[in-house]
Formats: sequence, C-alpha cells, structure tokens
Amino acid sequence: MVDRVVMYRAPTTVADVDALASWLDEHVDATIETRDRFLGEHADQDTARGFAQARVISPYDRTTGNTMLGIVRYEQRVLDDPDRGGGVLYDGLAVQELLRRCLPTSERELDILHVIVLDRPLATWGEHDGRWHKRVNVLGQPALISVPGLYEAPAKPEVYYREKQRHALVSGDAPPREVLESQVEGDFLIADDPRTTDALNGYVLQAYHYLDTGEAFCDVPSCRLYNAHHQPALIEAQLRPPQFCDRHAGLYR
Ligand SMILES: [Zn+2]
Repeated sequence: MVDRVVMYRAPTTVADVDALASWLDEHVDATIETRDRFLGEHADQDTARGFAQARVISPYDRTTGNTMLGIVRYEQRVLDDPDRGGGVLYDGLAVQELLRRCLPTSERELDILHVIVLDRPLATWGEHDGRWHKRVNVLGQPALISVPGLYEAPAKPEVYYREKQRHALVSGDAPPREVLESQVEGDFLIADDPRTTDALNGYVLQAYHYLDTGEAFCDVPSCRLYNAHHQPALIEAQLRPPQFCDRHAGLYR
C-alpha cells in the first residue's frame, strides 16, 4: 500500500506540479508532498553518463547510448541548466533505473511513491514491432512523467502529418506549428498547452494506481486510467467527463 507520494517539479515546463499534487490529494488516501526539480537535487557524478548511455539513437535500433566525452559533457550542461536541453529521446526504463539509484536511501520503500516530472521525451522499446514508442509516463518506482510525451506520444490526427508533409514539399521546410495546427481539425494538445496540468492528472494517478494495486491501465476509454494511443482519445480520457469508469469511480472519488 502506498501511503506517501513525493512529487518533483519540472520548472522548465508548464506542468504545475503543486496543482497535480492537490488533485491527487483529493482523490487518494495518502500524504502528498512536492519538492523541487529531482535532477537539480539528486543527480550525482554518474547521472550525466547515464543519460548519455540512455539516448535513443535511431527509432528502429534497440541499442542506445553514446558516451563520447562531448555527449557526456552536453548531458552534464543540461543537468546543470535544464533550459539548454531538448531534442533528445531517452530510453525510459534506463532513465528510471538511473534515477532509482538516486532516490534518497531512507525513502526507497514501496509505500513511498516518487513521481518525477521531467522535461525530457522518453520511449520504451516495442518487442512486437521493433521500434521505440514515446511515452507519457513510465510506471514503477520512481514513476516518470514526461511532459513532452504528453504532446508527442499519443499520435495526432493523420491529417496533421499529411499537412506537415505537404507543406514541406511545397515550401521545402516545416510549416510553423501554429499554422499547421490551425489547418487540422480535431482536438489535440500542442507544446505548452494550457490544458497540460489537467491532462497530466490522470497520468499521475496511473502511477499511483500501478504501485498501489499492481494494475496498469483501465480498458474504459473515458476513464482517467485509460492508456490513450491517439490525441483525441487522450482528450476524451483526461479532459472530458466522466473522470472515471464505474469501477474506478468507487476507488478514487
Ligand atoms: Zn477505469
């Protein structure tokens, strides 16, 4: 049973971790605490090397990592100054393992769930199709929440990608995000979307639910515990009523 949750802020993102904590506090029976950026407080001399090692090199290549000195130095600079990061995808399970080793030694029991909100894109390897899949969260201890994953992991409507390609053919470069988004019907989240925090509530609850019950996701598409693969499904699960399916409404209301 989880009776304490410690959540870590991600100041380079629009995700309001204190608001996530109050939402969770209203729905579960546990003590919730928020702390500053995990990587600012708990990174050690091996962390930069660990991130370098966890870099996804190609979407279809299981092998990760590049620990050339320049890359490790780059990762160190991003740890020191997170505003300088971006554009790199990491193996979520490797990052989870890396950060697990940095958890405070007195707080490693499974009755204390650590939820680390990150400004980095994370992926897990799909054995069934031989490629990396971006993730909004990585369940377990610590649980990782990827804010860019919220915008990038669940696929946008297909017409979005077609428009993007069409524009590239015509003008030779990528269209400005705003233009593209105004031309595509259907609801989806864009980077720094004002609905970010609300949409992440369910992903934090999924982390709690998993550690507390051993159950991963819910099959009901309208439930906050549903694992959406497309943006419209994400909007449906996280931002439209009802919040939960009947079974989980009993647990979390
Ligand atoms: Zn449910």
